[in-house]
Amino acid sequence: MKKITSRTIVCFFLALVLVAGTGIFTFKFFVEGDTWSAFSANRHLYTNNVLNTGRILDETGTVLADYDDTNAKWEYSSNAYIRKATLHAVGEPTGMIGTGALTRFADKLTGYNVITGAKPIFPGGRDLYLTLNAKVCEAAYKALNGHKGTVGVYNYKTGEIICMVSAPTYDPASPPTIKDGDDEYEGVYINRLLSATFIPGSTFKLITATAALETLDGVENRTFHCDGKTTIGNQLITCPRAHGDLTMEQALAVSCNCVFGQLATEIGSSEMQKYAEKAGLTDSLSINGIKTAKSSFDFTSGGKGGLAWSGIGQGKDLVNPCALMVYSGAIANGGSTAKPQIISHTAFTGGVRTSLYLRHHTHNLINAETAATLATMMRNNVLNNYGQGNFPGLELCAKSGTAQNDASDSDNAWFTGFLQDQDHPYAFVVLVEGGGSGSKVAGKVANTVLQAAVKSN
Ligand SMILES: [Zn+2]
Repeated sequence: MKKITSRTIVCFFLALVLVAGTGIFTFKFFVEGDTWSAFSANRHLYTNNVLNTGRILDETGTVLADYDDTNAKWEYSSNAYIRKATLHAVGEPTGMIGTGALTRFADKLTGYNVITGAKPIFPGGRDLYLTLNAKVCEAAYKALNGHKGTVGVYNYKTGEIICMVSAPTYDPASPPTIKDGDDEYEGVYINRLLSATFIPGSTFKLITATAALETLDGVENRTFHCDGKTTIGNQLITCPRAHGDLTMEQALAVSCNCVFGQLATEIGSSEMQKYAEKAGLTDSLSINGIKTAKSSFDFTSGGKGGLAWSGIGQGKDLVNPCALMVYSGAIANGGSTAKPQIISHTAFTGGVRTSLYLRHHTHNLINAETAATLATMMRNNVLNNYGQGNFPGLELCAKSGTAQNDASDSDNAWFTGFLQDQDHPYAFVVLVEGGGSGSKVAGKVANTVLQAAVKSN
């Protein structure tokens, strides 16, 4: 009897394991079936390791890439500018570009479904609609004018990335032979918006300003003084000229290094670290599963002088352009913003939608009240320094930056900010490597791209 009881228990336990295992398998089959089927050894979907089905389109339905069964290869847009501008979003079939949809979202292109598996219900695989606008990407690529760099624009209310351009790039319809050490194509497979970090220059003063507003009582009402140079710790901090007496708002507008170096030392290294983290810079963002590069800082090892340079955005600061764009979006949107995404939806050929992507929001990257104050200051930057006339018709709030570029005699030019425009809630980042002055060069690129974005809808 005892034996029977113990055997019953064992059998019951085994049955339980079987039921639980079947349950887990069924659940994973529904959730991960498309990823399993996209495994590159699946000969239904791959020819010589190249995915052989699906289309990639932009938000307007412009086809960016389409698998041509007759010639057994991927065909791209007929517009060479669009091909180059969207290379890092579309990718190429051999998988060299890690952020490319052909590699990253192969599972979305296969037409896989839980009923007929890898044999699609409708012929031709699935259509993957990206959030990008190909025309805006084209405008951005042209505006970079041969420079290396990146341009990102996203809707801070919905998260849709409408522009993601990285240069250098190449034409996927006729890929060049790229040799090691070829300067023209240095880092060509890297998506600079998502996967790289750069010295942020004065754009980082936005984070220092946030920390100052929240940790230094009455900082907005103080008057600072700039002689054009000052010594902090063992470091000589310089400005291009003596800015004289100025408020913090005026110091941000003229990007005064002396004032922002002083502010960083008053804030202190641990609070500076805290605010860089709170701004979301030191975290990786997940853009439909694509992880962005984390920004990094060292506010401690260089003493007071090093801390001053870090607060100015030089020193050892390294910032991911996408994270900076999202911070601008959070300032625009009252402290938190929709997380950026690159996939709009998927559909069967013929238009039946097979998925929707839901919006997710960041946590508060900045307090609402501070965000409102900073937005006013960034609007003041445009009105009193960059010049509204350079951005006709745009209710623009922005911060420029100029940072040393080790690979070039000219500096890297930055420009980040947003539109205060309910109909066009766009935040952006522009980096022109070796471009020179931030607001003049990167600001001009930003204007071209934002004008195209506003016109696009
Ligand atoms: Zn100054």
